[in-house]
Amino acid sequence: MVTIDQAKYLDRQDELQDYRHEFYIPKNRIYLDGNSLGLLSKRAEKSVVEMIDSWKNLGIDGWVDAEEPWFFLSERLGSMTAPLIGADPDEVIVTGSTTINLHQILATFFHPSSKRNKIIVDELNFPTDIYAVTSQLQSHRLDPEQHLIKVKSKDGHLLNEDDIVRVMTDEVAVIVLASVLYRSGQVLDMEYITKEAHKRGILVAFDLCHSIGSIEHSLSKWNVDFAFWCTYKHLNGGPGSVGGMYINRRHFGEKPGLAGWFGSDKDKQFDLEHDMTIANNSGAFQTGTPHLLSAAPLIGSLSIFKEVGMERIREKSLRLTQFMIELIDQELGSYHFIVRNPRQEKTRGGHVFLEHEEAARICKALKQNNVIPDFRAPNGIRLAPVALYNTFTEVWETVQILKQIMEEKQYNHFENKRDVIA
Ligand SMILES: *Cc1c(COP(=O)(O)O)cnc(C)c1O
Repeated sequence: MVTIDQAKYLDRQDELQDYRHEFYIPKNRIYLDGNSLGLLSKRAEKSVVEMIDSWKNLGIDGWVDAEEPWFFLSERLGSMTAPLIGADPDEVIVTGSTTINLHQILATFFHPSSKRNKIIVDELNFPTDIYAVTSQLQSHRLDPEQHLIKVKSKDGHLLNEDDIVRVMTDEVAVIVLASVLYRSGQVLDMEYITKEAHKRGILVAFDLCHSIGSIEHSLSKWNVDFAFWCTYKHLNGGPGSVGGMYINRRHFGEKPGLAGWFGSDKDKQFDLEHDMTIANNSGAFQTGTPHLLSAAPLIGSLSIFKEVGMERIREKSLRLTQFMIELIDQELGSYHFIVRNPRQEKTRGGHVFLEHEEAARICKALKQNNVIPDFRAPNGIRLAPVALYNTFTEVWETVQILKQIMEEKQYNHFENKRDVIA
């Protein structure tokens, strides 16, 4: 039997408890949506103000004279990100967005031949990844009907790695999969998938949107070819903050498919030659001038990750989701919720995914009760207790509120329909 006293005890024991005070928590709310938009930290706010000040005080000289010189910021943030994914500093660059970085990876490394011309994705991935892969196939005049292989899920929620291996034929050039599935929160076995793909001469790219800042990775050790991600979810970089990309060093020197002057060797860039000298690191895959105001929050935010370390974040995250699932089992047993995320630690990501036929209305009722979940059509409720700023007591309260909503059928006051943003 899980009790409120236990929640309070776990909070008192929590090594990371002080970090909550570094964040702006929306007043009187339980914020469980950090996997869609992470909250603002005081450090991120400070680094934005410092960026504005450097512009204010230095003008053009900010490129080299700012405390974090703008000219090198994308590389510098890449090296700050590297420990989060188990990469070398020069394998990571902060640039673009998830979608554009996937385009860059495919434009650069997908060279279809008459024999190898297919791309593997899965039927559960986020639409933007599928749109990008489809348009890249079309740019080579390849029909997605023939050349896009979608791995099926047996239950509509989870993927089986061996089903992925089974479609790795010698016609496949590249595999693009999520590390953590955005609905069920399943963590795929990236090491195994990469090993099997490489045995068959296939390149592997992972979308880390739901894993970076939430779970540990060893991309270099696993020998993953490429990865890409956004920074506004678990990394708390703010709405539209600049994305990131990992390019395994064995691919350094490849000519970027979408080339631009910021991909130049830094010493040569301002020679302004028409023959491009490509940077010999992941920086080569940048295009134009970096979005510095949208990169600035990451200076502060990533410093928190550096201080805490991914091991402690993952450890607390697993305890929070475990606590939430136990409470859901204990308190909501009679209300037809289905916990859809894997329960085993190894395959459980940073959020809990509940299904209920009244999910849309239940999410609205939760919001009215000052709990912020997110709804995933047609019937999913995502609840993400985030290690850096959520508490066990909040998890306890959330489940009590959910129970009350169900007991009183509060969801009947709302329409069972999603809003424009869900
Ligand atoms: C959030 C998310 C994206 C977002 O792509 P943007 O280019 O940042 O808008 C893409 N893929 C997945 C799997 C996501 O979860």
